[in-house]
Amino acid sequence: MKLEEMFATRADRLKASEIRELLKLLDQPDIISFAGGIPDPALFPAQAFQAAYAQALDAEHQAKALQYSVSEGYLPLREWLAEHMAGIGVPCDVDNILITSGSQQALDYLGKLMLSPGDTALVNWPTYLGALAAFNAYEPRFDRLDLGVNHGVSDYAERAEAAGGRVKFAYLSADFSNPTGETVDAAGRARLLDMAETLDCAIIEDGAYQALRYDGEAIQPILAMELAQKGDLEACRTIYCGSFSKTLSPGLRVGWIVAAKPVIAKLVLMKQAADLHSPTINQLAIHGVAEACFDRHVSNLRAAYSARRDAMLAALADHMPEGVEWTKPEGGMFVWITLPKGMDGAALLDRAIREERVAFVPGGAFFADGSGINTIRLSFSNSGEAAIVEGVSRLGAVLRRALSD
Ligand code: PMP
Repeated sequence: MKLEEMFATRADRLKASEIRELLKLLDQPDIISFAGGIPDPALFPAQAFQAAYAQALDAEHQAKALQYSVSEGYLPLREWLAEHMAGIGVPCDVDNILITSGSQQALDYLGKLMLSPGDTALVNWPTYLGALAAFNAYEPRFDRLDLGVNHGVSDYAERAEAAGGRVKFAYLSADFSNPTGETVDAAGRARLLDMAETLDCAIIEDGAYQALRYDGEAIQPILAMELAQKGDLEACRTIYCGSFSKTLSPGLRVGWIVAAKPVIAKLVLMKQAADLHSPTINQLAIHGVAEACFDRHVSNLRAAYSARRDAMLAALADHMPEGVEWTKPEGGMFVWITLPKGMDGAALLDRAIREERVAFVPGGAFFADGSGINTIRLSFSNSGEAAIVEGVSRLGAVLRRALSD
């Protein structure tokens, strides 16, 4: 018997990326890596977490912290989040909030909730790789979400129907997206809301980087815009996914979903079936740290990351050869580079690691159709300014050589 023959068809879609082997080399100390989109561990609020875990384990709290808890999530944390969401334009009840194990779990659950095989998910080309992976398990087709002025809404519906399903949702990270660092402006968000109204589909708004704005005016979340139009969260088609991973810590795996109550009610059942609830003690700790220092900590992060963003943009202007283009993010962790046509980001990575000891992520994997091979993603969150300048200069050197070959 071969156990592989027991796998469901959806398992066919689980594929390890070919760049993983290369990225394993990144632990070596002489490599400057712009690959991982991860927070700088030196900036974790470690003392606040020590205090919060000590409190969660004290005589008063330990019975609760170490026990099973409700699937909806720890109530004081949902209360804190209701206030936080009100602060970004989405007043809501605690019953509109589900705590998830990171926002990655939210994406998995939303795929599971909405996608039947053959249904269509609209995503940006490129989009967050983890969202493609999460949705893929539910055997959808992907279509390219275009928020330009002349997007063709009826074409989406026709293509979805021809594929034997319908458009169930549009997924996007509207602020400082992974991988491009770009932000959808208010007009683009309004067009998306119109489009979703016409298609009668949901919107999944991924707010993973929402709090990390370094300059420019904050733009209302899509859910806030829709709520302002409709006046009632229960009438909204936007589902907001939030995360503490980029602000407080990814290791605790705490994220949240805000949506109309019938959506939350179904997701609660899904969570019961999947993992009962997110770890109780981590929810207590996140709540303790959020209460103690969320705003102060995020403002420290903004100062540190914006200096790194500035260092990277200045170094790119100094070192990139003619014909290379890049985004100028107002927040988040990423700069997205478009290489001259015909260049291959994966081949460049191989060379960059071997010849210059600098690493990044090739962009092709972020495209649902496998295009975009002449793109790469650089993360500036986990290197100091001096390393950023040195790394970008090395990248410039290898690029120049690759272009002249
Ligand atoms: N959405 C986006 C856009 C991300 O970049 C990430 C993490 N890289 C996630 C969601 C998932 O994060 P987490 O599960 O840690 O909340």
